[in-house]
Amino acid sequence: MLKAIYPGSFDPVTNGHLDIITRASKLVDCLVVGILENPNKKNSLFTVDERIEHLKLVTGELENVEVASFKGLLVDFAEKIDAKVVIRGLRAVTDFENEFQMALINRSLHNDIETFFISTSVNYLYLSSSTVKEVAMFGGNIKGMVPPEIEKIVLEKYRK
Ligand code: ADP
Repeated sequence: MLKAIYPGSFDPVTNGHLDIITRASKLVDCLVVGILENPNKKNSLFTVDERIEHLKLVTGELENVEVASFKGLLVDFAEKIDAKVVIRGLRAVTDFENEFQMALINRSLHNDIETFFISTSVNYLYLSSSTVKEVAMFGGNIKGMVPPEIEKIVLEKYRK
């Protein structure tokens, strides 16, 4: 059984993430979306529990997708859940250097875990969680950037 982990912050989950999740879920038997509890990112919009809830909401129809959070090293979590593959999404070349470095570091830490890169769909090339937050903060339209359920939740958060 091939199990993969798709790690990230997902603050909030975007249509770019969901596209990667949907496509990756077709390639593996089980895909775990792993939300990193990152002590360096103190200014997150949503708590980890909220993000778990959001991801469960938008992946509900994908039967082989699970959602979890983790602290510490990705490779340790991957080993714990017996995931042999790490999935990462690639947008522009600017993603490449960081992602490549991370993949090499992870492999040096754990030789049996491979990173698979999935290229973004062209519609989501410029989409990131930060863009969504910046647009929403100033009252802009985020339709098409995030799933409809998440659009409401994000707008509600900024209204408060
Ligand atoms: P991180 O904080 O690790 O960058 P993100 O939540 O921003 O986490 O992203 C998780 C993964 O999803 C990363 O591999 C990132 O490159 C990928 N990703 C983010 N946005 C998109 C997008 N629009 N299209 C494809 N992949 C994306």
